[in-house]
Amino acid sequence: MNFLSELTGCFAQPCAENPTVAMLEAAYQHHDMNWRYINCEISPANLGDAVRGAKAMGWTGFNCSLPHKVAVIEHLDELGESARIIGAVNCAVRRGDRWVGENTDGKGFVQSLVEVIDPQNKSMVLLGAGGAARAIGVETALAGVSQITLVNRSVERGEQLASMLKEKTSAQIQFIPWEGYYAIPDGTDIVVNATSIGLSPDVEARVPIDISTLKAGQVVADVIPNPPRTRLIRDAETKGCTVLDGLGMLVNQGVIGIKYWSGIDVDAGVMRSKLEELFG
Ligand code: NDP
Repeated sequence: MNFLSELTGCFAQPCAENPTVAMLEAAYQHHDMNWRYINCEISPANLGDAVRGAKAMGWTGFNCSLPHKVAVIEHLDELGESARIIGAVNCAVRRGDRWVGENTDGKGFVQSLVEVIDPQNKSMVLLGAGGAARAIGVETALAGVSQITLVNRSVERGEQLASMLKEKTSAQIQFIPWEGYYAIPDGTDIVVNATSIGLSPDVEARVPIDISTLKAGQVVADVIPNPPRTRLIRDAETKGCTVLDGLGMLVNQGVIGIKYWSGIDVDAGVMRSKLEELFG
C-alpha cells in the first residue's frame, strides 16, 4: 500500500525500489510539489490499523494494490461510481472529512485509449477476466464502447465478469471460452490484452490469438507495462495496427491519482520517461 502524505516526519524503514514511487516522485519534483509518496508494506491483518493511521496523520490519500483492493472498502466512507461497479479500490482520496475509494485502473486505460480512438459505439475484444479486465470492461463501457467480446481461459471467471458487465453497464456482452488461438472477429475496433501473459520475465510468451486476423488500423492495447514492447505489441505493429502499451495505462493512473489528491495536472511525459528508464 502506498500512502500519499504531506507530513514531514522521518521514516526509518527500508524500502525496495518501486516503479510507482519513482514515477510519482518524478512528477512531484518536476512540478516543485513538496509532496511525498511513500511505499509501505502492509499485511492483511494490519490493513485497518494502517488506514486509521493514515487518517490520524492527516494524509491526503493512498493507493492500494493486491491483496487490499477489496478489503480496504470497509475502511472507507464511500465509493466513486466505477469503484462501486468494479467492487475494488486502488486509490483512496480524502475529500473534506470523508474518505472516498476510487478505481483508477480502468480510467488510466481509457485516458490512453481516447488519445487514439473515440470509444463511442465501438466493438472491443477483451482478453482476460481478472482485476485489470474487470476495470477496463467497466470503464470502457462507461466511456461508450457498445460491444464487448470477453475471452477468458477460466470459464467460471469469464462468465462471472460477463454477467456483471451485462447487469451493470449498457454494453452488449458476449463471453467466449478461450481455446487454442482465438481469431479476432471481423469488425472489431479495439483488441485489449488484459491477461498477465508477457509480463517480465516471460517476455517472449505469446498471447494466444491468431495474429493473421488482426487488421491494419485496428487498435491493439496491452496492459503489460514491463516490458512495454511486448510480443503482442510488436506483432500488432507488423500488421499495421495502432498500438497502446501498458505504460500509458500505468502513467495515466498516476496522473489521475495526483489530480484527485492535489488538484494538480501533472506532466505525463515526465512520469513515462522515468518508467522507461526503469524498465529499459
Ligand atoms: P489477475 O491474476 O486478476 O488475472 C490474470 C488474467 O490473465 C486472468 O484472466 C487469467 O486467466 C489470464 N491468464 C494468465 N495466464 C494466462 C495464460 N497462460 N493463458 C490465458 N490466460 C491467462 O491479474 P490482473 O488482472 O490483476 O493483472 C493482469 C495483468 O495486468 C498483470 O500482468 C498486471 O501487471 C497488469 N496490470 C497493468 C496495469 C497497468 O497500469 N498497466 C494495471 C493493472 C494490472 P484465468 O482467469 O483463466 O486464470
